[in-house]
Amino acid sequence: MFRRSLMPTKKILISGAGIAGLGLARQLKKLHIPFKIIEKRTHLSTDGAGIALPANAVKALRYMGLGNNVDQHTHQVNKIIYTDSTGTTLSEASLLVEPLNTDRFVALHRHKFHDILREGVDGAIHFSTTINQITRTKNGVLVKFNNPELKEEEFSAVIGADGIKSHVRQLAFADTPLTDLGVTIWRWTCKYPTHDLQPTYMLGARDIFMAYPIGKDESIVMHMLLSLKT
Ligand SMILES: Cc1cc2nc3c(=O)[nH]c(=O)nc-3n(C[C@H](O)[C@H](O)[C@H](O)COP(=O)(O)OP(=O)(O)OC[C@H]3O[C@@H](n4cnc5c(N)ncnc54)[C@H](O)[C@@H]3O)c2cc1C
Repeated sequence: MFRRSLMPTKKILISGAGIAGLGLARQLKKLHIPFKIIEKRTHLSTDGAGIALPANAVKALRYMGLGNNVDQHTHQVNKIIYTDSTGTTLSEASLLVEPLNTDRFVALHRHKFHDILREGVDGAIHFSTTINQITRTKNGVLVKFNNPELKEEEFSAVIGADGIKSHVRQLAFADTPLTDLGVTIWRWTCKYPTHDLQPTYMLGARDIFMAYPIGKDESIVMHMLLSLKT
C-alpha cells in the first residue's frame, strides 16, 4: 500500500466508516500507520442485503489477514449462469478453472462483512463527525471538523471513503457532478433453497434479474434487479 520510503509522516484521515473506510483503517493499523477515522452517522450502518466477493476481493482480504474469517463466514459458488428471460441457459462460466479460479468466489450477509471489517478498529471511530473545511498545505491537508471534541489537525492525506455522494470529493473537486447512468438497482434477501443454486443472471431486453446464494443451508438468496431508465 505504501512503500516504506513513502510512509506518511503524519496521520491519514479516513472520512466514512463503510466497507472502504473500515477496510483501509484495518490495513493502516496493521502497517502501524497512524490514522483517524470519522463517520457522519451516530453508529455503524449495515444497510443492505448480501454482498458477493469475487476472487480478486477474496485475495485482497487474505492479504489483509482476513482469509480465515472470509473462509468461515462465506458461502462459495462454483459457476455463473446467464439465461434469457425465460430461464433458458445462454452461457455458463466455471469459477473453478482458469482464468477465474485465482481464489474462491464467495458471498455473505452484508452485516457479517461489516462485522469482520470493523473488528479491532471500531473503537477508533469518531461518530457524528464530518469535515467542515479542508485546506491544502505545503505538507498535507489542514482539516476542520464539525465535532468540537476534535481539534483542527494537519494530515498527510484525506481519504474520501464516504460513499457515492462523497463530501470529500465535493470539497476537493467541487465541479465534478455525478453522471446518472440511468440504472436503478433493488436488492433484498429471501428464503430460497440454495443447495443446487448457483449465481444466475436472467437477461431481459431492458433489465436483469439476479439470484445469488449467500448462505449454505440458510436458504437465503440475494436478488438484484436493474432497470434502464432511458
Ligand atoms: C441501501 C443500500 C443497500 C446496498 N446493498 C448492497 C448489497 O447488498 N450488496 C452490494 O454489493 N452492494 C450494496 N450496496 C452498494 C454499496 O454502496 C456498496 O457495496 C458499498 O457499500 C460501498 O462501500 P463504501 O465504503 O465505498 O461506501 P458506503 O458503504 O456507502 O460507506 C460510506 C460511509 O461514509 C459515511 N459518510 C457519508 N457521508 C459522510 C461524511 N460527509 N462524513 C463522514 N462520513 C460520511 C456513511 O454514513 C457510510 O458509513 C447498497 C447500497 C445501499 C445504499
